[in-house]
Amino acid sequence: MSEFDPDWELATRAIRVGHHRTAEMEHSEPIFATSSFVFGSAAEAAARFAGDEPGNIYARFTNPTVRAFEERLAAMEGGEACVATASGMSAILSTCMGLLQQGDHLLSSRSIFGSTTVLFDKYLSRFGIETSYVDLADVSAWEAAIRPETRMLFVETPSNPLTALGDIRALAELAHAHDCLLVVDNCFCTPALQRPLELGADIVIHSATKYLDGQGRALGGAVVGDAQRVGEEVFGVLRTAGPTMSPFNAWIFLKGLETLALRMRAHSAAAQQLAEWLESHPAIERVYYPGLASHPQHDLAKRQQKAPGGIVAFDVRGGREAAWQVIDATRMLSITANLGDTKTTITHPASTTHGRLNEEQRQAAGIGQGLIRVAVGLEAIEDIQKDLQRGLDAL
Ligand SMILES: *Cc1c(COP(=O)(O)O)cnc(C)c1O
Repeated sequence: MSEFDPDWELATRAIRVGHHRTAEMEHSEPIFATSSFVFGSAAEAAARFAGDEPGNIYARFTNPTVRAFEERLAAMEGGEACVATASGMSAILSTCMGLLQQGDHLLSSRSIFGSTTVLFDKYLSRFGIETSYVDLADVSAWEAAIRPETRMLFVETPSNPLTALGDIRALAELAHAHDCLLVVDNCFCTPALQRPLELGADIVIHSATKYLDGQGRALGGAVVGDAQRVGEEVFGVLRTAGPTMSPFNAWIFLKGLETLALRMRAHSAAAQQLAEWLESHPAIERVYYPGLASHPQHDLAKRQQKAPGGIVAFDVRGGREAAWQVIDATRMLSITANLGDTKTTITHPASTTHGRLNEEQRQAAGIGQGLIRVAVGLEAIEDIQKDLQRGLDAL
């Protein structure tokens, strides 16, 4: 780990941790665009390969730009170790490969990223790891579903798109009472708004593709946790199998982290304003946003998160036809399933991100045909609102 003052606040860590200035005395973080590194002698090469001496070997598992990103994110999440990966999905895969084995049971929230469900159900199952799903917000349902062979609890909070919350502290206690790990996908909040490790979670996962980049440019992921599980076990998978982050992408994320806290505060403030406005609009049946007093877990959100985040979902009256009409009436908002960008995006979950579910599963998940998700960007909130108002007023 880098040398840094443990008293530093998150904003300082986001800017000052991870860069070890070279002899060129560069001010900004350089990109080390090199796949391999040279050794001073045959003996040094042997010592590096044997792990007897630290230092760069080969960029599948050692690159200074990637390491700078890892050190910075670890410092921001409050973890001992971080492993950067090629995508959020490969962060989840590497975590499962590093920490689970045949015969283990994985207990997951039902409300997780669609590809994560496919990874668990279609691929992990082939290697003898079984997954079952429970309601994110219901701690007693989690407890009831734990089996003797359960090794890992997996959550995303707030959930996508309905912004339901999982109580990280309660789930961590439950996991540890049953000799399980709690893994939190912290993509929606980022360490700027929520630090799961401080609440007792064991592992934090990121899709850096989203808010860590913040400008929709690059694919990446990360796993943060303790030195043994992440620094040895998950790192070992990466070193061997190679779902590695590229130095160029690491540099993008490294610079993204510097403005993360500012951006998350701005995303949240705009989303709060939009949610309040939507709640007062007659064409809208219900708004889902943790910052609203009407959110069933509003108090937990205030305890667990620094701010409610940038994702707002709402049900329009009139089902799919009305929802599509609102989406198609926008001129500025981007119709895309991505999120965590300066550009505001609008999505119809029932026919896109949750389109693979049948009607019954969709109803059970609470994803109605009238549901719209907006990932609020950093354009002027007045313009975002005007763009939505056109379609809503026409309903
Ligand atoms: C996007 C996303 C992922 C997957 O990340 P990629 O970088 O697209 O592989 C995982 N979890 C959540 C919550 C996401 O939003």
